[in-house]
Amino acid sequence: MKLFIAALGTETNTFSPIPTGRAAFLDDLYVEAEASSRSDHWFAGPMRVWRERAEAAGYAVVESLAAFAPPGGPTRQDVWEALRDRVLGDLKAAGPVDMVLFNLHGAMISERQDDCEGELVAAAREIVGSEVTIGVELDLHCHLTDRIVTAADVLLTYKEYPHVDVDDRARDLFRLCDDARAGRTRPVIAVADCRMLAVWRTPNQPTRGFVDRMSAAEGRDGILSLSLAHGFPWADIPDVGAKVVAVTDGDLGLAERKAAALARELWEMREATTDRLLTLDEAVQVALAPPAGVTVLADVSDNAGAGSASDSTFLLRALVEAGATRCAIGSFWDPVAVRLCREAGEGARLALRIGGKTGPMSGDPVDLTVRVLGIRPDAVQTYGNGKQPMGDCVMVEAGGLHIVLNALRTQVFQPSVFEQFGVALSDYATVFLKSAQHFNAGFAPRADRILHVAVPGSANPDFSALRLPRAGRPLWPIVADPFGEPA
Ligand SMILES: [Zn+2]
Repeated sequence: MKLFIAALGTETNTFSPIPTGRAAFLDDLYVEAEASSRSDHWFAGPMRVWRERAEAAGYAVVESLAAFAPPGGPTRQDVWEALRDRVLGDLKAAGPVDMVLFNLHGAMISERQDDCEGELVAAAREIVGSEVTIGVELDLHCHLTDRIVTAADVLLTYKEYPHVDVDDRARDLFRLCDDARAGRTRPVIAVADCRMLAVWRTPNQPTRGFVDRMSAAEGRDGILSLSLAHGFPWADIPDVGAKVVAVTDGDLGLAERKAAALARELWEMREATTDRLLTLDEAVQVALAPPAGVTVLADVSDNAGAGSASDSTFLLRALVEAGATRCAIGSFWDPVAVRLCREAGEGARLALRIGGKTGPMSGDPVDLTVRVLGIRPDAVQTYGNGKQPMGDCVMVEAGGLHIVLNALRTQVFQPSVFEQFGVALSDYATVFLKSAQHFNAGFAPRADRILHVAVPGSANPDFSALRLPRAGRPLWPIVADPFGEPA
């Protein structure tokens, strides 16, 4: 028996000012073969899981590309085609295989392809034919198209946001596909379109209960797998929006009914799952009169994890002007400022221009006289069971503010972004993060409260104001009742 595996992903924000070219992959994850042993990147986690499971089950394993780029604007067409053709070329070269497993994101858009993953999986199906089992694991922030659903035998998404279950879902996918390959099951897939744009924070009720009910229903009464694809709202393409996926053992009617029922349940929860977001002024007031303990405030609009630049200065400027103290903020993607700090050295004082370099959605740069508190070359964060590079990282101090800057664009996942400089989270009354939700896994156990702030940015969370003319159907909350209005 032979198993073919590959991992390829990025998350495309069609409003992002960041071009996605070849370097975006090379800087983050790009391993042409054997990533399971050569990379500790979190996106290669499923490759490690599948190799281990496959070897235990007696498969020979052919590993193709593992590549990931930080979320940003559309991927250059030539770069996408080269990645796609690399995987498909490896699949052809592997000869006859019994099973194909892909770890993909599901929201990758190139300059001329809205549905990169659908194109890849459909082409793989063409190569291997209808008898070979193809399984696909997707980030829950994906766009589900008919093409990818038709081309896959089993398709599932992460269940958790923050995505702490990437490897667990890889284990599920291996088991489900191995059963199908061996003829023990006959998976069929149904999808229900929720017509919703939203963020669901899975540790919080009532979303927690929804996810737990999905998990509890799996593996019984013919239901093999259930997923809520949250969707990725900042993409003006026809398949944008949340969808429910149900995989059953040979019963398409059951899959359709189950998906539709979960979609209805989600719709009924919509008010209870809508975030309360602070304004800029409200966030500054928290920093000026902080409650006891540590308050973490997430700048969700400038989340690199959703394709934002991660160099916006709206909050920084307001905090400086208000004279906030016992406050930390980061991490600013600013390789130029990091370079200047490295050259000046630890302990140096210098005039530093911070952030605001990428475009209008980043605001204007902030000029401060700072002291360099620390320099950490080639810093990394832990994310799930893997690593995420940050590039060179510095902490500077200005007034009562500690500011972290780094050289490779990425969101904040862990308190280590600050604590790697010898400080403790508890040294601060307020900590401002450029991140939307993934920080929750690392920060929630240590923060007294977590608040979310909405300021301008390319991942602004006011979905009712998103302009998505290509969506092709009404979507809540742009309209109040997406099923009541003609498309
Ligand atoms: Zn995601």
